[in-house]
Amino acid sequence: MRSLRQSIGTRLSLIIGVTFSLYLVVVSTVGYVIYQQYRGFSELASSHFGRAMAAAELTRDAEIIAAEVFEIMVGSRRSISAGNQRTENLASLYQMARDRLEQLGTAGEVGDPVRDELIRWQQPFFDSLNSLGDQLDKEETLRAAHLQRFDELFLLLQQLPLENTDSLQPNEQRFVSYALTAMTSAAAALSAERPGHIAQLENTCRQSLQRLEALSLADDQWVRLRTKLSLVLPETFENRPPLLKNARATLAIARHTRVLAQKLTSATYNYHLQLKASAQQAIEDHQQLIRHSLMGLLLASLALLVITLGAVIHIRRNIVYRINRLNHAMQSHLSGQVVSIPQDGQDEISGMGTSFAVFVDARHQAEQQLEEANQHLQQVNEELERLSVTDALTGIANRRSFDLQLAQEWRRAQRDSRMLAVIMVDVDLFKNFNDTFGHQRGDDCLRQIAQALAAQLHRSGDLIARYGGEEFILLLPGLDLQQAGQMAERLRDAVAALNISHPSSLSGCVSVSLGVVARVPHPNMRVEMLIHDADKALYMAKEQGRDRICFSAEGRTD
Ligand code: GH3
Ligand code: MG
Ligand code: MG
Repeated sequence: MRSLRQSIGTRLSLIIGVTFSLYLVVVSTVGYVIYQQYRGFSELASSHFGRAMAAAELTRDAEIIAAEVFEIMVGSRRSISAGNQRTENLASLYQMARDRLEQLGTAGEVGDPVRDELIRWQQPFFDSLNSLGDQLDKEETLRAAHLQRFDELFLLLQQLPLENTDSLQPNEQRFVSYALTAMTSAAAALSAERPGHIAQLENTCRQSLQRLEALSLADDQWVRLRTKLSLVLPETFENRPPLLKNARATLAIARHTRVLAQKLTSATYNYHLQLKASAQQAIEDHQQLIRHSLMGLLLASLALLVITLGAVIHIRRNIVYRINRLNHAMQSHLSGQVVSIPQDGQDEISGMGTSFAVFVDARHQAEQQLEEANQHLQQVNEELERLSVTDALTGIANRRSFDLQLAQEWRRAQRDSRMLAVIMVDVDLFKNFNDTFGHQRGDDCLRQIAQALAAQLHRSGDLIARYGGEEFILLLPGLDLQQAGQMAERLRDAVAALNISHPSSLSGCVSVSLGVVARVPHPNMRVEMLIHDADKALYMAKEQGRDRICFSAEGRTD
């Protein structure tokens, strides 16, 4: 059982698992980074830029207010609207911008000193603005009273008889003169700027009024006019100094407000700058995040590439290359070429190599055994073949072999019209021999006779076979009866030459009787007839006393 670490399946699963996990990590990281960038960008767009823009608006409002204050200072629009209403509008405009900025949540973005500076200058500025409004309202009232004085003076002037003064009484003429002097002083005082000048004019006016008082007047019309002058003209002088004082105070407050407006503008501008810096910082953070994300993505991609390359190299080296080697070895073995089978390692491939090696060894052994079995079988077959055509006792051909060759030679002799001779040999009185010497000696005798007979054959086509018990038969193609007879003689002599003792025999030795036949086979003749004739001739030899040669009836006999 191989361990998990050595299994290709486990290793491949591990490689795929690691690669996929890394892929998931990279994808998650990229997703997270994109989400962060999206969030950062949204925040940047909605908060930082928004706040910077709001701060810019605040700065603009502060500048507008400062400009308004400047305008108030210059005085060109003093009379357009009431001061307090205008300053309240400005304050609410500014406060609205501030509130919006606070709502955007600038607390974390702007340092305390900058906020403190803004708060520090805001309230004094608006207090000063309110004072300026009050001051302008007061000035407006005074100015209205001032204009009323002008109107009153004008009305009084219209009541004076300025034409045909020669027709007037001397007192009346003086009245006109004094009244004109007093009214002129009062009118001059209405536009005088310096307090000394006003006092001088008031003095002149008062002297003229005193002179008027000193005049004795008969007509009530003159008396009523003098009374009006005495009432109206002193008021003209009372109204002028407060108006001048008020104008100076307005100027001072406007100047102070302007200074405060500049401070506030500066503070809001700093506020704006800080928010702008914060937005800039957010952009830089955002850019850094993008840079880090890209770098991380690059590194992760590189790592993934390296791991994938490593995995490919590992698979090629440890799996593909080895499978190819094993496949090559297998193909070589299949084509009969013997090469070494790779079995290195302890995984499935090495297991396949080992199994294949075992299979190859087994096949090799089986082939060897088959070869040996075949050789043995061949030997057995040869032996069987030999045994099937050999006589076990004598070692010469058996009857079956003889019959086969006889049929063959018979056909050949028929075809060639050639002579075919057969000699049948039978051991004489062999039963007696057995009886006398025993069966074993009988066997030895038969072996000796067989060898002696076989020794007489020298031609390749000749054949000797054991035909039965103590009978032998010879097939002699091409021999005529005479030649066959000569052979029979040699055979009989050869047996006799063995000189095997046989007490029952006439000669005292083992002898044989022979029947000889030789024919050119006729087409209609059957091979059995040849054997039959030989047997017949043999029978004749026995009949005639044994130890002799007889020929078939168609041939020679003796
Ligand atoms: P004949 O001269 O008329 O041929 O007399 P014979 O005794 O030879 O003939 P018979 O047919 O009466 O006897 C043949 C004997 O041959 C009988 C048998 O014991 C013997 N014989 C046959 N085959 C064998 C054998 O293989 N070995 C031995 N030892 N004897 C055999
Ligand atoms: Mg016999
Ligand atoms: Mg016999």
